[in-house]
Amino acid sequence: MSRFNALDENRLEQLRDLAGASNVSTGQADLDLHAKDQSHHAARQPEVVIYATDTQQVARILQFANEACIPVTPWGVGTSLEGNPIPVHGGILLSFEKMTQIVKIHADDFQVTTQPGIGRKDLNVQLARHGLFFAPDPGANATIGGMLANNAAGIQTVKYGATKDNVVQMQVVLADGRILRLGSRSVKQSSGYNLMQLIVGSEGTLGVITEATLKLAPVPEHMSAVVAAFSTVTEAVEAVVAVRGCGIVPAALELLDTTAVTMLNTTGDVDLAPHPSIFMEFHAAHETSLTAELDLIREICKEIGAINIQATADPTERKRLWHARHALYENAVRQNPGKTFYVNDVAVPISAYPELIAYIEQQRDAHGMTAYLVGHAGDGNIHMAMPYEGETGYQNAQALNSEVVNKAIELNGTATGEHGVGLGKIPFMTHEHGDALIAMRQIKDLLDPNGILNPGKIFPEGM
Ligand SMILES: Cc1cc2nc3c(=O)[nH]c(=O)nc-3n(C[C@H](O)[C@H](O)[C@H](O)COP(=O)(O)OP(=O)(O)OC[C@H]3O[C@@H](n4cnc5c(N)ncnc54)[C@H](O)[C@@H]3O)c2cc1C
Repeated sequence: MSRFNALDENRLEQLRDLAGASNVSTGQADLDLHAKDQSHHAARQPEVVIYATDTQQVARILQFANEACIPVTPWGVGTSLEGNPIPVHGGILLSFEKMTQIVKIHADDFQVTTQPGIGRKDLNVQLARHGLFFAPDPGANATIGGMLANNAAGIQTVKYGATKDNVVQMQVVLADGRILRLGSRSVKQSSGYNLMQLIVGSEGTLGVITEATLKLAPVPEHMSAVVAAFSTVTEAVEAVVAVRGCGIVPAALELLDTTAVTMLNTTGDVDLAPHPSIFMEFHAAHETSLTAELDLIREICKEIGAINIQATADPTERKRLWHARHALYENAVRQNPGKTFYVNDVAVPISAYPELIAYIEQQRDAHGMTAYLVGHAGDGNIHMAMPYEGETGYQNAQALNSEVVNKAIELNGTATGEHGVGLGKIPFMTHEHGDALIAMRQIKDLLDPNGILNPGKIFPEGM
């Protein structure tokens, strides 16, 4: 029997009073739309979708849900890849679709204060007028709230950091409705416990973010994209480590194996040599420093045995290349009709990256699985996108995933570099964290004693 209470008509009526009737929906289309993210995990409908409009309203909803013991699962735009926003215990789905306002652009401080429901691409369109941008970039147009909650990262993390590195202040509503302001607008902060960073990456299980002040970077004056192809994945990985070690910080450093490069070519946007490749981007304030950096990168790649190096500073060419890279996942899905994708995101220290990639290739062959390998190699992060069909295919993908995750943890890495724990990484939490997982549970119990916030995530059943 569920430890939560169902939402009967009486409770729904109270929620309409608290949230505003037009913000409360039990319509089938709304329930369906918020039942599943972009992962392979099964859908589960909430009992009601409530559209958040402001911090006070969110506080009223949480206070009510906490007292009535009703689950609340925050929802950005549902692009998670690990089941993070699936309301597995039903209850209230709290959507931030209506909270998309930019509160203030602090251009002189390179900061923006915004509501959590704005998409990062939409935010960047507004910021471009000020010559600024918010750098963390998961391929999707994820919301700021979803990115903070998952500590999303992406292609440019190697230079600009993950979402956690790009936030200075947040407004958060706790499970009991208390409203907290965490952090400050100072970029240096050393005051008290870092509660803000506790909420970042907590996947909506510790508090609900209703406002955030983010760090911004100036839009770079000069950019260049480089693709270097190698005969073997081993050489490509060697080049990744060498580029990281040469002192130049690329804005992106991605590894793609031959299957992924071949997939990219089918987009029609690019025509690349079908070999394991590294994709790089470099940002600089001066053309001369960019040229000098590119010369050194070319030299490094050639020395390691690159069979083809293409570099371009042409903005259209550069955008076409990265567009193809960003569209890789959607394209792979299109090219595998009727199949579901199992995607993982392990990460290891850069020195262990060659061993991890060699292990992945060996196990992929042993399982006879297709898996497109593409990763934010500069951060020691790799994705395997594994198309599968039917129960046997699922079991095979799951077995391969377990082997790779356990290997990454043994290499002193992590089960998840950026997608978060959600549902899929729960089985690995004890292996990765040991007794620290008990401390995490104690923190959860302290901040959310009734366990109403995004229940069923992060912790193994019964913990
Ligand atoms: C094609 C594709 C490529 C991707 N590439 C990357 C990548 O390179 N790197 C990467 O990191 N991710 C990537 N992702 C995954 C995804 O975009 C990120 O996990 C993103 O952070 C999810 O944001 P969202 O707005 O969709 O949030 P949702 O999926 O709706 O929610 C994410 C989590 O945040 C919680 N949440 C949402 N809003 C709030 C809030 N206001 N307060 C508290 N909790 C909240 C939810 O409960 C959930 O646990 C990719 C996804 C796709 C589909």
